[in-house]
Amino acid sequence: MSFATGFLIFEFNHQPISDVDNQPANLLTLLGTATSQGVPVIACDCSVCRSSDPRDQRLRASALLSVNDKHFVIDTGPDFREQMLRSQVPEIEGVLITHEHYDHTAGLDDLRPFCFKQKIDIPVYCLPRVAADLRARYAYAFTDYPGVPRLDIREVGFGDKIPFAGTEIELLEVHHGTLSIFGVRWGELAYLTDVKELPARTLVQCKGLKTAVISALHHAGTHSHLSLQEALDYLEQLGVEQGVLTHFSHRMGRTAAVNAALPPAVRCGWDGLQLPAS
Ligand SMILES: [Zn+2]
Ligand SMILES: [Zn+2]
Ligand SMILES: [Zn+2]
Repeated sequence: MSFATGFLIFEFNHQPISDVDNQPANLLTLLGTATSQGVPVIACDCSVCRSSDPRDQRLRASALLSVNDKHFVIDTGPDFREQMLRSQVPEIEGVLITHEHYDHTAGLDDLRPFCFKQKIDIPVYCLPRVAADLRARYAYAFTDYPGVPRLDIREVGFGDKIPFAGTEIELLEVHHGTLSIFGVRWGELAYLTDVKELPARTLVQCKGLKTAVISALHHAGTHSHLSLQEALDYLEQLGVEQGVLTHFSHRMGRTAAVNAALPPAVRCGWDGLQLPAS
């Protein structure tokens, strides 16, 4: 592989994100790095689920884009409340829902504290298909019932750009089994979760990236998720300087062991890992 060896990371330390000194202005934080069941898995006693390494304790996949004190969330999964408490995000500008699966949407109701505090309808960007799904699944949120989450659903498509704090979040198409879902390019960084295939157009849109976060389920992969080797092949094809893996099953193994077998500039992501985006 042709990756550079430098790998810039920042420890999370559970500090308020806006108070951490000396950070680059544009930062992506991994809020969760597990597949749909989380790690540890309920009632599992495998060595990964019993690991004392904090990197092996993974909330469901989500990411936060930050420009100084402005924050934008990618996916509100079932651990969204805990992720917001842990990262002490004071306000958010909006949310992108990559796709309709439970592990990316189940925390939608927990946007209510931001609705109340910010006194706005929180912008929620998603595909028209996903918007219809959310309106059906969370029908009460789209009524006048007092106290419901106030969501400003904004239907967007592949190739669209979401303005955020003077930057643009470019929406990429990712194939997740039979579903087309959103990936994101933000400056020189891409966040690509629930990937099985990257269409040719997306590979073109990813030209010039320095860093890519890409999902890898475990060593075998499935009809809808890349295996570890498939994810490594995509990172090489993308030609990035740094690769970070996310959306792990406990079957991937312990973080320390997986890292030891990876190319020098590829690392397992973990909850709280922060990456500069420009
Ligand atoms: Zn396990
Ligand atoms: Zn999914
Ligand atoms: Zn997922």
